[in-house]
Amino acid sequence: MKVSNEIINIIPEIKTWRHELHAHPELGYEEKWTSDFVAKKLQSFGLEVHRGLGGTGVVGILKGLEANLGGGGNKAIGLRADMDALPMTEENNFSYKSKFEGRMHACGHDGHTAMLLGAAKLLASKNNFDGTVYFIFQPAEEGGGGGLAMIEDGLFEQFPMDSVWGMHNWPGMDEGNVAVHKGSVMAAADRFEVTVKGNGGHAAMPQATNDPVLATTAIVQALQQIVSRKQNPLDAVVVSVTQINAGSGFNIIPQFTDFIGTIRTVNSATRINVHKQFKEICKATALAYGCTAEVSVIKGYPVTVNNIECSEKAIEVTSSIFGPGSVKTNMAPSMGAEDFAYMLEKIPGSYIWLGAGEGKSGCMLHNTKYDFNDNILPLGVTYWEQLVKSELPLR
Ligand SMILES: [Zn+2]
Ligand SMILES: [Zn+2]
Repeated sequence: MKVSNEIINIIPEIKTWRHELHAHPELGYEEKWTSDFVAKKLQSFGLEVHRGLGGTGVVGILKGLEANLGGGGNKAIGLRADMDALPMTEENNFSYKSKFEGRMHACGHDGHTAMLLGAAKLLASKNNFDGTVYFIFQPAEEGGGGGLAMIEDGLFEQFPMDSVWGMHNWPGMDEGNVAVHKGSVMAAADRFEVTVKGNGGHAAMPQATNDPVLATTAIVQALQQIVSRKQNPLDAVVVSVTQINAGSGFNIIPQFTDFIGTIRTVNSATRINVHKQFKEICKATALAYGCTAEVSVIKGYPVTVNNIECSEKAIEVTSSIFGPGSVKTNMAPSMGAEDFAYMLEKIPGSYIWLGAGEGKSGCMLHNTKYDFNDNILPLGVTYWEQLVKSELPLR
């Protein structure tokens, strides 16, 4: 493991920032305190700071040594961290626990923000690269699409970059290990809403009705064939019906039913096919029961797809830091979703998982007792520094 003394020396300070951020969690698009904190730190390191992209987003600009001497290359890269917390109440009792009921950094975005600030401080103190680094701090990763909001506000036009890079801490994977996917890393998360319309009536005279409850149970069953019979078994898909609403009494066949749920896919082409199959099965099955189905599939975050060349570079950089045996390149994608996907749709890049170990009580992300593992702060900062030096080498 190669962590420089310079990084070890600034870790106590980075840890303090992490704890301050942890104590002040803010929900998506409300990251006022957090974005002030980030902007002030970046300014204090001497970076040019732009605010307001996607509401509370912050971009810090750092130019390399040769640019400061009037020359230098035009290559630019973006490093991204997320700043938002989750709507849940923390159950930890340490000194820096959340000051707010119903808000908690349970996904480690406090750690991501602190590590990226650490890398900015370190790189600004040396400028030992050639080109430009954009430090991107985005709002609202947890379902709010803050990454997309920054793109729509002109992130890549105002700050043109050749590649963009992301990192998420990964509990359950050993400290000192990383996972780099060559291709899909996180799933697309889509939502569906279906209304099945029948013809209601007296439950004792079903012959005079078209029963939407019966049709709905048949549809829910029929939807199971999407995963079991219509996909390549090696291509992961989830179709989950999670809520069904129908009826108003024991002796009334209702006029209609509603059901909702989620579709997860890890391949963009599969995603399109599954949406089509979903609609066809709902409509055709409803028809077989004398009913009709109104179906909407609402797209959420797309599949997070790493650029293969960029992932090769991430593997090279992480192997040099962590040792080749600690870099996992064949892990299955997660069925969770990530809005860095939108950035990777526009600009090539790679999003890696940084092993966070078992955690204090073996907590996974989004658990009320989760806490970012401070032991991995130096590893994340080292990755950012080495990535910059590798992507923007001095000539
Ligand atoms: Zn999360
Ligand atoms: Zn997260």
